[in-house]
Amino acid sequence: MAGIDWNGVRVRHSLGSVARRSGLAVPDAGTVMVCCPLPNHDDARPSMHLDLDRDRYYCFGCGARGDVVQWVSDIEGVGAVEAVAILEDGRRVKGVLGTGNRGAGTSYTSPSDHERPDLERTSPERVRQVMHDAWGYYASAPSHERATEYLGGKRDIDVSALEAELGRFVVGHTPDRPDALTQHLRSEGFTDDEMVDACLALRNRDGAVIDFFRDRVMLPVTDDADRVIGLIGRTVTDRAPKYLNQSRTHTYDKHLALYRPRRTILDRDANVIVVEGTVDALAIAAQAARSGLSTKFAPITASGLYLSATQLDRVLAIHDRAPVLAGDGDEAGRGANVAWATDAARKGRESVVVTWPEGQDPASWIAANREDALRALTRKGCLDAPPSELRPRHCGAVLTQHALDTLPNTGDRAASLRRVAAEAKNISSYLGRNASERYATAAAGVLPPVVVDAEAGHLVPGQRIKRQFRATQSVGDAGHNATALAVNQHIATDVEWPLKGLTP
Ligand SMILES: [Zn+2]
Repeated sequence: MAGIDWNGVRVRHSLGSVARRSGLAVPDAGTVMVCCPLPNHDDARPSMHLDLDRDRYYCFGCGARGDVVQWVSDIEGVGAVEAVAILEDGRRVKGVLGTGNRGAGTSYTSPSDHERPDLERTSPERVRQVMHDAWGYYASAPSHERATEYLGGKRDIDVSALEAELGRFVVGHTPDRPDALTQHLRSEGFTDDEMVDACLALRNRDGAVIDFFRDRVMLPVTDDADRVIGLIGRTVTDRAPKYLNQSRTHTYDKHLALYRPRRTILDRDANVIVVEGTVDALAIAAQAARSGLSTKFAPITASGLYLSATQLDRVLAIHDRAPVLAGDGDEAGRGANVAWATDAARKGRESVVVTWPEGQDPASWIAANREDALRALTRKGCLDAPPSELRPRHCGAVLTQHALDTLPNTGDRAASLRRVAAEAKNISSYLGRNASERYATAAAGVLPPVVVDAEAGHLVPGQRIKRQFRATQSVGDAGHNATALAVNQHIATDVEWPLKGLTP
């Protein structure tokens, strides 16, 4: 592969331009969720995150990820050298062309045809001021009432107890006129440039300025001092995108910001809950407040499936207990849980995962089950009351189950299981010793039983093995599970696998 100027290729071809060659309507910058265009993935809703500023993609449904060269390789089914040739000759890249309605999706930033915020032009202080005024306008009494009516009527979310606790409004609404905010802010002494640079207004090519958010329920993103640094607009008309996020400004960066409806001192056994949707986080906080449990539940979201390393660090810093991961009950949501749990484990942290019934999400589960719904989001030992049937499971069980569910159909099942166990062992090795053993035990609980041939001398003898036998005996059938042994980080990697008599 000598002779290829890889960096040059990546500079000449942005992910946005290559995605458009695949028929996706995406802008040049910002982030966007699209339906996965890869040939082996029939994606019903947008599962693929495109980071157009960093030219990287990640699909929460099928796990595909990479840069522009990988994109062409994945879509065309070719190697890297041929992918570069395709990129350089400018022709169409296969993808969604001609398949109709697949395209940009649930959440995005940066409409392409408008001037983008200029970080040189307006000072951070002015951006803060205009954000403060804009939120005051969206959350003024009549707009606030519209938002609570929408949430109460359409989503069965009652925020009154949460707002009473906080002593402020937590939702707002856009006005009917498409330039009402812009007019209001002008009357308050803000310039059009300042509004554009705070991503509250859009200026199109002929100079006309209108509001950035229209026909949306508004949710404020706050910093640690409870100042409004960003806004998220959830559509009330079902017009895409479902959630509209601001472009990067002095105060807001979607890769760093997190929506957290309530900041509070948490109990020692509290549950930090990571969800996909802003309204899901709000629904949890609202129900917790109604149930008098606000110190036990801290919902948080990056407003979407993608959680950056910085965002994950901030989530993990909120509480020292394992976070509860609760992506939606669909392929992309389950994929997000797997990505979040894997990333958290790599940072040395356990997590527990809620797997909703198909089609459910936290907000719909709470609307249907009220106070009892919170049990589904509760780590073991937090609340004494009788649990609902749905409970979070240890990440070791969920990640291993996911690996089993997505086993490649190679015919050599024993080899596939070995790979699953090796991966479980690898992930558990990032955790501390006790957590690693919990991980191994949870993983062993979902791996299919195998016959252990310990007497035949397949295992390395010694103390370490005996201890792991004890650890796995607590999980019943898996007690003599050689696979559990293999996921134990204490076992030397050169142990010959005693996988005999595998039963599916
Ligand atoms: Zn995919």
